[in-house]
Amino acid sequence: MNAPITHPPVPVADAQTTPVMAQYLAAKAAQPQALVFFRMGDFYELFFSDAEQAAAALGITLTKRGKHGGDDIPMAGVPVHAAEGYIARLIRQGFRVAVCEQMEDPAEAKKRGSKAVVRRDIVRVITPGTLTEDTLLDARGANRLAAVALRRGRAAVAVVELSSGAVDSVACAPEDLAATLAAFRPSEVLVPDRLFADDTARAALDASGGVAQAMPGALAEPSAARDRVQRLYGVAALDGFGAFEEAEVSALGLIAAYLETTQAGRVPALAPPRRAGEAGWLAIDPATRQSLEIDRTQRGEREGSLLACIDRTVTSGGARALAERIARPLTDPAAINRALDGVEWMLARRDLRRDLREALRASADVARAVSRLALGRGGPRDLAAIRAGLLTAQTISGLFAGAGDPLDGPPERIKEALARLTPPVEAQHLLESLIAGLVDEPPHLARDGGFVAPNHRPELDETRRLRDDSRRVVADLEARACREVGVAFKVRHNAVLGYFLETTAKAAEPLIRTGPDSPFIHRQTLANQVRFTTVELSELDAKISQAGHRALAMEQETFETWRRAVQDQAGPLQAVAEALAMLDVDTALAEWAQEAGAVRPVVDASLCFCVEAGRHPVVEAAVKAAGDPYTPNDARLDGAGGEGARLAIVTGPNMAGKSTFLRQNALLVVLAQAGCFVPARSMRLGVVDRLFSRVGAGDDLARGRSTFMMEMVETAAILTQATDRSFVVLDEIGRGTATYDGLAIAWSVAEALHQTNRARTLFATHYHELARLETRLDHVCNLSMKAREWNGDLVFLHEAAPGAADRSYGVQVAKLAGVPGAVVTRAREVLERLEGEKAAPARLDDLPLFSLAEPAAPPPSSAVEDALADIQPDDLSPREALEALYRLKGLMT
Ligand code: ADP
Repeated sequence: MNAPITHPPVPVADAQTTPVMAQYLAAKAAQPQALVFFRMGDFYELFFSDAEQAAAALGITLTKRGKHGGDDIPMAGVPVHAAEGYIARLIRQGFRVAVCEQMEDPAEAKKRGSKAVVRRDIVRVITPGTLTEDTLLDARGANRLAAVALRRGRAAVAVVELSSGAVDSVACAPEDLAATLAAFRPSEVLVPDRLFADDTARAALDASGGVAQAMPGALAEPSAARDRVQRLYGVAALDGFGAFEEAEVSALGLIAAYLETTQAGRVPALAPPRRAGEAGWLAIDPATRQSLEIDRTQRGEREGSLLACIDRTVTSGGARALAERIARPLTDPAAINRALDGVEWMLARRDLRRDLREALRASADVARAVSRLALGRGGPRDLAAIRAGLLTAQTISGLFAGAGDPLDGPPERIKEALARLTPPVEAQHLLESLIAGLVDEPPHLARDGGFVAPNHRPELDETRRLRDDSRRVVADLEARACREVGVAFKVRHNAVLGYFLETTAKAAEPLIRTGPDSPFIHRQTLANQVRFTTVELSELDAKISQAGHRALAMEQETFETWRRAVQDQAGPLQAVAEALAMLDVDTALAEWAQEAGAVRPVVDASLCFCVEAGRHPVVEAAVKAAGDPYTPNDARLDGAGGEGARLAIVTGPNMAGKSTFLRQNALLVVLAQAGCFVPARSMRLGVVDRLFSRVGAGDDLARGRSTFMMEMVETAAILTQATDRSFVVLDEIGRGTATYDGLAIAWSVAEALHQTNRARTLFATHYHELARLETRLDHVCNLSMKAREWNGDLVFLHEAAPGAADRSYGVQVAKLAGVPGAVVTRAREVLERLEGEKAAPARLDDLPLFSLAEPAAPPPSSAVEDALADIQPDDLSPREALEALYRLKGLMT
């Protein structure tokens, strides 16, 4: 588990503590879980254990400053201008960073007395789940903060993505917590502290990959949580957003509480919580996600995953939306078909697609720009992103207007996206203002100005002219002074002296000697240089700096006007961003479908699974890149109730393509239900509720579990959760133990999946004995991956054909792998001996049939047991507990 980093207790100020250190300790006490970056001039300083942790994590020097309780105070610091990079490194290592800024000019503080301390406040706590800076984020991946809660026997996950303002809320059974959390891939997960002791929650957290943050349990208490969420949204009741379960309110409350502290009161522009519909999503547990390499490979990289293979999006918003679509496939056939309609329509329009992609390339990351500006962290470049996005939206609306043929109109979801591309008139005004007033390539920060275009505000142009004219006069003055006095002066400028004339010490000598009447007023003597000013120069200096300040203030004012307009229009602007992302995804999926020769799957409510000439998109790309052909394969499984087989036993030698075949079919389910076309000649799919894949797990040595133990844990999860609507692929069950143990387990697992779970299952095994299940059970068929021996060598055909494999070809594979000839020959001898001695296998056929009634059904429960089952001890007050006890006693009589 990503256990929270521990922080020693915060030292307490005493009589010897200096005022600045007392201020620091107060800030630290407010954020004991974070490293406090304490602004002191041009540096952020860290003290005490924070300094030690940061020095170790960043490799920066540890020094000391003053004493506390007789000991040196450790100190480390980073320059403000380079802070972002250091903060990023700390966040990646699981730290949180509280930024404590100077809230006033030091000069301001001085006015209160020479001892007065500059006012400082924590303006933000930076955590993995609340980052919004482009430099700290992966443009093509979402960054999410999640919270989990358990109440009254139900679990909930709340998720917020600050960069887009999207909020999700999902209620589920506690055993589905891991799958739900994994579907969002959060980078940080808030957990009420007592849940750390709960096994289910712990396992879910472990698998989520996010950094866990313990939260005081009181924050998850429903009525307090509800108040906080209502405050966050500024509403009097949550009912307008839907009927939330208590666990959902708790989880949302944790998010609200965390945003309050980390964002220091700045409310981000959040959309109302989206709730998973009745049908929810295709449940894919973390082990299955990992095994199928849906959006990350087993090594954790995007490259090589299904997502990377099919991603043809051209915007980062589109890339994020596609990732979401693949991570959370749907289960409602109508919704899936609506998504497929979009792709199909785009696929038929090659020219429009080309134009759309060209237009989309010119847009920018509107969603993240809007959220940064709304949080008060944005700059002029974010305004430029919004301008680019809105212009793209206009271009795209134009493209569709041009292609307008009402009979051949786009499907509903594309029409809805188009409607969102035209924001309200206020946003149009903002766009016009940005076109007229924002320079083409504005700077990152508003601080130094230089982003308001000429001719936008006449008074700004006027002030700038004054400033620039004066600069020109200064340049003239330099030439004049040189000419008149015969000394080589240079006009220079710095923050302390403003403009001054500088010359060498030698040249300056006669000027200094001329005394108080000289027009050259001495300002400063350095080792080799002497600096002067003149009355005229200091007047010009004042003029220039005043004009500069005025111009800057005007630019800041304009920035603030734009920023406020963005904040007011955050909703419609996010809607534009979403619509652009959606159009990008649909065109990109059509583009990929065209390239990969993918077809539209038929998705319905049946229990059918029928693939003709299916291909594994990732392996196919790899095999083709190596210049080899890929062999397409059929697969046909009928769900419970169907006539045909619902469990296929897949045999064949190692390297024949069994795992590829299994994964391929599972990935086709993911693609189809994500509303993507599928690489196959045809596919019909009755929607799947849960997808399970156990294909070669590695040892989890970190947690002390062997491969075999992992395999059994995952198998147990499948047997307890798979339904007749589920799809299961299992590879080599029982391999990690002795042959007979393994065979016995594989046999009984296959029987249970067939009889009890009745899930559609592909079961690959090297136990050829399992082939006999075909004759013993009604809905089992055998498939084998074909291989042929040719001139003593083994040739893999990668073709799944009906029937069981005749033998394992293990020795041949060993030979192929380069095992020395003598060992291979010896292995052949041993094999022949063993095969001669093999016990008569017929004994398995005498086995009684797998019994559905096993184990015996539990006896019917009593009224007292029912009542007991309904009681949630954690939710009872002492008084309620006593009442419950009386009630139970009453039931006994
Ligand atoms: P097994 O699970 O039977 O040991 P794999 O599925 O790992 O075999 O496949 C081994 C290799 O064979 C893959 O890495 C791939 O290169 C190739 N392969 C698998 N299936 C196909 C196919 N249908 N067409 C072409 N090559 C394939």
